[in-house]
Amino acid sequence: MAVAATLAATIPKVSDDIVCKIVRGDLDAAVVTRDEQLVAFLDNRPVFKGHVLISPVRHVHTLLDLPEELMQPLLTLAQRVASALGDALGADGTFVAMNNVVSQSVPHLHLHVVPRAKRDGLRGFFWPRTSYAEGEMADYAARISQALQRQLP
Ligand SMILES: [Zn+2]
Repeated sequence: MAVAATLAATIPKVSDDIVCKIVRGDLDAAVVTRDEQLVAFLDNRPVFKGHVLISPVRHVHTLLDLPEELMQPLLTLAQRVASALGDALGADGTFVAMNNVVSQSVPHLHLHVVPRAKRDGLRGFFWPRTSYAEGEMADYAARISQALQRQLP
């Protein structure tokens, strides 16, 4: 019993989502790089070929759950992958995005780095655009600004 309890305590808590399965080696993926903190692999249904997903190795649900120590490594790797897409594929640019909860197909944080080409035909991307009514933009800005100020210690 004591041994089992000790073992259970040392096994990291994992989830059964696709990213955790890739991390554990239970699911094959086209991994482009991996270290102890992050894994980057190809989306198997790419917007464009070379579409990379970057995830924390540990189970993290959304951006709101991302530990501070992973923030800089995540964006640094996104920058490196974006640069590599230019070098490897001749991408003119990239689209970098993260869905959180809504439209998040896998409940494990994944940052999309999509290679873009000038005149690649992608317009408006994933979502339609709307516009603000008269005075509405200032109201939205004020509400968000106030919420940000309430976060300060
Ligand atoms: Zn997971």
